[in-house]
This record gives sequence, structure tokens and C-alpha cells, in this order.
Amino acid sequence: MNRIVKKIELKHKGKNFIITHSYQNGSTSTIVEDSSGVEYPRQSRIFLREKAKQLGLYENGYLYNDGIEVDTHTYFRNIHKITPSGLKQGGILNNSDLYNVFKCGNSGGMRKSNTTNSLLIISDHTKSLYDDRWEEDVLYYTGMGQTGDQSLEFMQNKTLNESGKNGITVYLFEVFNAGEYTFRGEIKLVKNPFQEEQNDADGNSRRVWIFPLKLKTVEKEVRLKDLKNIIEKRENKIRKLSDEQLIKNIANSRKVSSKRNVETTTYERNQHVVEYAKRRAKGKCELCEEEAPFLTKDKQPYLEVHHIQWLSNGGEDSITNVAALCPNCHRKMHALDLEIDKSKLNEKVKGDFND
Ligand SMILES: [Zn+2]
Ligand SMILES: [Zn+2]
Repeated sequence: MNRIVKKIELKHKGKNFIITHSYQNGSTSTIVEDSSGVEYPRQSRIFLREKAKQLGLYENGYLYNDGIEVDTHTYFRNIHKITPSGLKQGGILNNSDLYNVFKCGNSGGMRKSNTTNSLLIISDHTKSLYDDRWEEDVLYYTGMGQTGDQSLEFMQNKTLNESGKNGITVYLFEVFNAGEYTFRGEIKLVKNPFQEEQNDADGNSRRVWIFPLKLKTVEKEVRLKDLKNIIEKRENKIRKLSDEQLIKNIANSRKVSSKRNVETTTYERNQHVVEYAKRRAKGKCELCEEEAPFLTKDKQPYLEVHHIQWLSNGGEDSITNVAALCPNCHRKMHALDLEIDKSKLNEKVKGDFND
């Protein structure tokens, strides 16, 4: 099949962007570049694609097939022929993308797609105060059926249970932000489903089926940022529960914690910069100016070195961007990051250790 490419140019924050949408052999890809050819990360890619849609650029943009303009109908007909094999791990789909690809219903944790002969497993972190349980790379997924005992013969429980022999492909999507489905890849049953006691929404105990599932390939791990975001949102919801509800939920929770592998970024910091900040502080927190709360085993004042402009926001690892803080002030900077505190620290770090 010919490669079909559609290029769209648009302006954003005074910069020019080029969006290239291409379709080949059943797979589509969207790339956003600025005029210097720099690719943009996923978030802004999504943003710009949405922007392009809002601006109607997808309808009015140019469409090329090996350099020859093609009518948009052909293009869209091809786009609608996207097969799941064209989905990329980590790619984010919205509800209408999901419908275009799979032609399946838009609710429920398990969705059957007859068009593609597949079953979608949706692990939606935004819906429940509880989360699906992961143990390293195995997802213990609770079957279908909201109340009463669950049955292995029931709808998609049956489909999933028989997925080793019914020829159906199972895909996992995770939702970290409402309406955004992150494609995680093809998933398979790794052990036989088993039964477990769980409370239903009304707090009544019942038997559910648990399906141990594992991704066939893991190219991209879940981002720490996405998980933190979910935890934060859940924290806000839990804070609003009544005391009774809180106690009830604890009673209904499993006692084994969930653990999963995440993709993290670690910054290798210049230890000389760390040491310099500590010497400059002379044993006192550079924010509250109190003595360090205790001495380390090596009899050094315990202070933590913090980047005033965070490394994750592009801050420099330099002596004028670090401050030695007591643990309380350090937590405060991470929780609040107040301007008044930052400007105090920025003043402080101008001095050197002879002052
Ligand atoms: Zn302090
Ligand atoms: Zn810090």
C-alpha cells in the first residue's frame, strides 16, 4: 500500500509547527516538529493534534500521496481502516479514536471488538478509589459483574477465560486522565483465573474472578508522573470521605500492597555542588535559619540540598541554584514552592562560605 502523508502547519506560542500524519500498511503515526526539526514530547503532541482538530486543519489541510494531492475522502477512509497493529505502545487514544479503531462500546472495563476480533481490557485509574492490583509485571484483573458472585460464563469473563483458544487478541489500555486511553500493548492470561472474596459497591462480600494478565512485550513502562498524578487525585477524593466511610473502606481493602515497575528519571547530581551548599550553610538551614535538627553518624549537620529551580523543570545543577535545607523546609519547598521562599533562597545563595 502507498504511504499517505498529510502535512499541516500551524502556529503555537509564536512558533511554527508542522504536523505530519502518515498512514502506511495499516499503521498511522503523527509527528509534531518545529521549523528546526525538533520533535515534541507526547503531551504537546496530543495538545497540538487536538488543536489542529479544533482549528479544522484536518479537514482543510493538504493531503499527499507520493507527492500528488489526494482527496480527503480517500484519506479518511484509510484512516478508518487503522488496525490495532498500528497502535504504538504508550500512544494515547480518546473515545472516538477508540471507536474508530475497534468499533466497540464506550463503557465498561472489558470491551469486545467484533471488527478486530479483540478484547480490550481497560484499567481505569480515575474511576475507583481502589486500583487494579499489580505484582511486578502481572496485572490481577477483576472480572465483570458489579454485584453478587461473578461467573466465568458471564459475557467477557468467558471471552477472556477462553482467550488462549478462541483466537481473540487481548489488549490493555490504562486511563490516567479521564478520557485518555494509553495503549499498553497485547496482553495474555499467564495463569488460570482464580476466585477471591471482594466487597461489592454496597459493601457486601461476594466471590469474584481474578485474571492474572501479563503484557506480551514491555517496551515502555508506566511513567512515574502518571502514577503520582493518580495518587494525588485519589488523595483528594479520600480526604472528603466521612470517618465511617473511611473505616469501612479500610476494612474492605486488601492487605497486600500493589507494586509495579515504573519508568523514572534520575538525575546524577554534582557532589561538589552539594558539598559547597552544605559548607555555605554552616550547619544552618538556609531557609528558616535554624540549626540542622541532628548530626549524622559522621557528626555532620544533617541538611538536604535542594534545587531552587527543580532539575525536572530544567534547573541548573550549580551553586547558585542549590540551597541546604532542614528536612521540614525541604518538604515545604516541594509541597508549596512559594515565591517568597524562593526569592529568599535566591538571595542567600549569592553569598559564599566566607561571608
Ligand atoms: Zn529550615
Ligand atoms: Zn528538593
